[in-house]
Amino acid sequence: VWKHCLKIIRDNVGEQSYNTWFEPIVPLRLEGHELTIQVPSQFFYEWLEEHYVSLLRHVVDVVLGPNGKLEYSIIVDGGNEHNKPYTINLPTSRPKSTRRPEAVQEVKTKKSKYNGTSEDTAVATLAPYQQYAAETCLNDRYTFDTYVEGDCNRLARSAGLAVAARPGTTSFNPLMIYGGVGLGKTHLVQAIGNKIKEDYKDKVIFYVSSEKFTNQFIEAVKNNGIQEFTNFYLGVDALIIDDVQFLAGKERTQEIFFHIFNHLQQNSRQIIMTSDCPPRDLKGMQERLISRFKWGLTADLSQPDFETRVAIIQKKMQTDGIDVPYDVVEFLASKVQTNIRELEGVMISMIAQSSLNRKDFDIDLAKHILQNIVQNIETGIDIEYIQKSVSDYFKVPADALKAKTRKKEVVMARQVAMYFTKEFTDYSLKSIGQFFGGRDHSTVIHAIRAVKDLIETNRKFRSSMDELNHLLKQRGKS
Ligand code: ADP
Ligand code: MG
Repeated sequence: VWKHCLKIIRDNVGEQSYNTWFEPIVPLRLEGHELTIQVPSQFFYEWLEEHYVSLLRHVVDVVLGPNGKLEYSIIVDGGNEHNKPYTINLPTSRPKSTRRPEAVQEVKTKKSKYNGTSEDTAVATLAPYQQYAAETCLNDRYTFDTYVEGDCNRLARSAGLAVAARPGTTSFNPLMIYGGVGLGKTHLVQAIGNKIKEDYKDKVIFYVSSEKFTNQFIEAVKNNGIQEFTNFYLGVDALIIDDVQFLAGKERTQEIFFHIFNHLQQNSRQIIMTSDCPPRDLKGMQERLISRFKWGLTADLSQPDFETRVAIIQKKMQTDGIDVPYDVVEFLASKVQTNIRELEGVMISMIAQSSLNRKDFDIDLAKHILQNIVQNIETGIDIEYIQKSVSDYFKVPADALKAKTRKKEVVMARQVAMYFTKEFTDYSLKSIGQFFGGRDHSTVIHAIRAVKDLIETNRKFRSSMDELNHLLKQRGKS
């Protein structure tokens, strides 16, 4: 069959092109009307799809009939996680007029098959990503209605609305939202997903964190399920992938994501991503992925200003049906500035305390709660406390940790304080940098490494660190 195809192709392309692009193809198998061919690389596949897709369709139509299908099998180099090379099949692109390729129908039938009857055996043998297939994994609490607009999110929000209105067909593909912890990335991208779900009932939408995606992939590798894993993702109309910075250093997961990304993008499916930094700052990420991340639109979320914080508090309280005196709202908005999640934490505690202990919903209660909540719940150690303890220990002024100074003893104290902040709190590297005079996250990484190195190589330093560690923990508890 392939020989027959080649004959037609040879008549339609120049000799040079034929030798370059069609000779190296290995026909793998023919199942019914479906022919699978093996190509040497992703690049090869892209080239064929870009330059010869109509010729290939024509050939398939002629040789295999109108139901004919062509699948590619791509040889993928091994990476980190498991070192065997493997191949995945990607269906050939449909002409743009057909709304979506076969893969989706496959997912759909899978859905109905596994959804209705709760046959335990069937469910038990399903890989995790198939179990999710029935759901979008969206949280319906996160909508545009509950998302307060402000200067900090204006571009990202309106880009999100545009994408939700015409998923896959705007130039915002991928849409990449980046910003620090707790600034509303997950809320926004889920709002986009929920809006698409509402307006396009037949579209398959899927939300996944990069961590979950990685774990699913590792499971798939273990269980020989890479193809199924891939098929599942190829069948999604709008893929939301949260916190892509977690893919850093995970070569093989990046590899498979790259293929999925390309395929979705080429078939006008929407990709929505979030990250804690702009694409160019993503460390441990393949260049080709980063460059693709920049293809669409990148929009940032910054820290909300005072008015926006006030509006967010009011919105939350209103949603929960709680009346809060305006002075309390202002007080909270002025005290918690960096992180909306933290702000929310304070409100939740206030609601709980005021209803449990019948306390007045006033500034005193807010003050009381603020004192407790800014500390790390588990260890009771907060960042100010670390900065103070470390500067005391090194006998440098606490302000110097946040200042520009590069005096040797200050640099040392600053690095140690960063190190312990990472140890004792949940702040991201980026936030830690913010707390130390707005340094960037690579400075924090460097500091932590430097301290670790010293701990390993210098006994005296190690015992001081043990001592400090002990001090911090002791006082943290009290
Ligand atoms: P991130 O994913 O960036 O860490 P989240 O999306 O989880 O942040 O947001 C943290 C919390 O703050 C969520 O509960 C979210 O609803 C709330 N939030 C963030 N931005 C806004 C906003 N503009 N309006 C209302 N709530 C917001
Ligand atoms: Mg998030």
